[in-house]
Amino acid sequence: MDRHPRDSDRISVLVADITTLKVDAIVNAANNSLVGGGGVDGAIHNAAGPQLWEECRRIGGCPTGEACITRGYRLAARWIIHTVGPIWQGGDDGEDDLLACCYRNSLNLGRQYGIKSIAFPAISAGVYGFPMERACRIALREMKAFQKNNSEIEIIAVCFSNGAYQCYQDAMREL
Ligand code: ADP
Repeated sequence: MDRHPRDSDRISVLVADITTLKVDAIVNAANNSLVGGGGVDGAIHNAAGPQLWEECRRIGGCPTGEACITRGYRLAARWIIHTVGPIWQGGDDGEDDLLACCYRNSLNLGRQYGIKSIAFPAISAGVYGFPMERACRIALREMKAFQKNNSEIEIIAVCFSNGAYQCYQDAMREL
């Protein structure tokens, strides 16, 4: 696996399909209903199998900015943390804060479950339209803030394109 550690901390940026990663938890960019999404959500459901859909249906939904957890089923990851990012409305509708909440709540939930490694996709930066550069900066800021007090947890930012990877690299240099 081609990891790219930055700084001296345990945040890596990686180009990969998140469904293939052997980590304790992967994070899903879900929608409010927790069922029937495309993008990374569709890929995770395809890879994890129908029991994931059943568990999500039982949970019933998740508000924007919050997070919930299911088992990973057929994935190598033991847990899936589902968080719902904001839909981009132009930037003046609290999108930045809601996106930060997604990362914070996902990390805190993972910690409650004792995870030691967690991988995130670029939440909201796909179909939900959040500009990638801005999304990366918020993601990395929250990851770094969390790691200050939780240095034993490895965090991976997963990119699905070289463009996203470049955005993370730039944000890494800036922060
Ligand atoms: P949202 O609706 O929150 O924008 P999307 O699933 O549309 O969620 O996209 C979020 C990010 O996840 C995008 O950057 C997209 O390229 C990326 N992505 C899609 N599929 C995968 C995957 N299998 N592994 C990692 N990242 C993925």
